[in-house]
Amino acid sequence: MPYESEKQIAIQAVQAAAQLCEQVRREIVPEAIEKKDKSPVTVADFGAQALICRALSTAFPQDAVVGEEDAAELRTPEMAERLAQVTQYVQAIVPDATAEQVTDWIDHGNGQVASRYWTLDPIDGTKGFLRGDQYAIALALIEDGEIKVGVLGCPALSFTEGQTGLMGVAVRGAGATLSPLAGGTPQSIQVVSAEQSDNLRFVESVESGHGDQSRQAAVAKAAGITQDSLRMDSQAKYMAVAAGEAALYLRLPSPKTPDYREKIWDHAAGVILVEESGGRVTDIAGKSLDFSLGAKLVNNQGVVVSNGSIHDPVLAAL
Ligand code: AMP
Ligand code: MG
Repeated sequence: MPYESEKQIAIQAVQAAAQLCEQVRREIVPEAIEKKDKSPVTVADFGAQALICRALSTAFPQDAVVGEEDAAELRTPEMAERLAQVTQYVQAIVPDATAEQVTDWIDHGNGQVASRYWTLDPIDGTKGFLRGDQYAIALALIEDGEIKVGVLGCPALSFTEGQTGLMGVAVRGAGATLSPLAGGTPQSIQVVSAEQSDNLRFVESVESGHGDQSRQAAVAKAAGITQDSLRMDSQAKYMAVAAGEAALYLRLPSPKTPDYREKIWDHAAGVILVEESGGRVTDIAGKSLDFSLGAKLVNNQGVVVSNGSIHDPVLAAL
């Protein structure tokens, strides 16, 4: 199987990072919400990036990693206590990790987009993480601008009662699967077809500043979706489309930030999951997302994710 070792390393790394994030959320986030102190999310971001970069740098030392976080601030004397906390959480998984190693692993994720690189969002949907809602650990491998492998860990996501914590995995040309995040048999997934359901749904962000909700509602309606949207944080929205739980994910530029450009780590893993499930992803002009240009999708605006069949009607409505 092509990319078998990349896939396995990525899965294990995302699982370890998810374990760390959930431990942080169990132990310190409730306290933080009371104090309105956002620092614990930083602890989980840093810890997750450290674990994943450690795994990637060991298995694929030549590969660049373009991650969301860096350790510059963590290395300052004022942050010593915070760094000790990150290190302690990392040690729950890598018992002999030192603070110095932790900062070095985090900064391994400060690479540049190259002909082959990984992109990582250690916690996508930070606001959801803090609220106790959805978040995702997102990791993807890109070669010559094409996403080859994507792993999306969603610790709070559930599509069937009694099963919370899902992982989506896709390899280019080999399809996409869904499995329990903690491990279990991967099930092949497929987007929903219009024939399968006369009750199609769409997903959008919880955060109103990350989209244009009134326009999103109008476009969905024009494409024949009559139900209210399902609002979710993070790339869990891509999982919903890939697994057939929703037919459409709209992320139109917010009127408040019309010049915002999407970050590669907010999309790469989700994009390949949906494409390998039979769906389609473009920007609002119908162009493919270009992952070869840098940390931002500078050539694209907004994102349209669909089951494929409603994509053109959606673009026409836009
Ligand atoms: P979501 O959970 O879908 O709302 O997306 C979370 C992501 O939105 C974060 O990882 C940010 O990188 C990204 N983000 C921040 N500001 C904006 C913005 N103005 N428009 C779109 N996305 C944004
Ligand atoms: Mg993010």
